Amino acid sequence: MAPHGGDDLVIHPDTTLRWVDEHVGFGVFATRRIPRGTITWVLDPLDRLFDDADLPPRYQPLIEKYTYRTAAGKRLLAWDLCRYMNHSCEANTFSPGLNLEVAVRDIEPGEQLTSDYAALNLEEGFTCMCGASGCRTWVADEQFELLAPQWDELIRAAFSKIPTVEQPLWDLVSRPRAVLAGVRDGQRIPSVLSTRCAPSVEAWPSQRYAMK
Ligand SMILES: [Zn+2]
Repeated sequence: MAPHGGDDLVIHPDTTLRWVDEHVGFGVFATRRIPRGTITWVLDPLDRLFDDADLPPRYQPLIEKYTYRTAAGKRLLAWDLCRYMNHSCEANTFSPGLNLEVAVRDIEPGEQLTSDYAALNLEEGFTCMCGASGCRTWVADEQFELLAPQWDELIRAAFSKIPTVEQPLWDLVSRPRAVLAGVRDGQRIPSVLSTRCAPSVEAWPSQRYAMK
């Protein structure tokens, strides 16, 4: 019996958890091809949003490892495999907000699904050995604004594919009309900066992780 994958409806069903190595730990891998434009993850009611102050200090290592800050400054703990997604400097999924992540490249069977942690409101930078040809070797929060335009470009190209590929998570998308508006008109796709947690952009309206 496979202990993971397939059952975790809110991350793409064609994914599974695999051990990578002692350094990396677990990673999330595609079990079938996941084409560009596929929604790979959606926020759902079982995901947990909370404030740092809610938890005793001994939870700190887990918080650092498995959560990230939302634009509203909350901690998000994904209950599904999403919390095991590793960083890549050439990440194949990104989020324009809208409570979802989308594949910005074709993800081949056996390939890891990855995020760029610089897009996740990092609190501390880290030395990167992700192996990507474009590895930045150092990943830090201040790269968010710098890289946002190229991430937005990747997301825009991926959105145009949304209607052309299988979307097993579509019924769980919380803002389908906003997604479809972005499909019709790329200018209406929120920037990744809408997920930025920083004083200067805290007031971005699309930041609410309110469920419908
Ligand atoms: Zn890297």
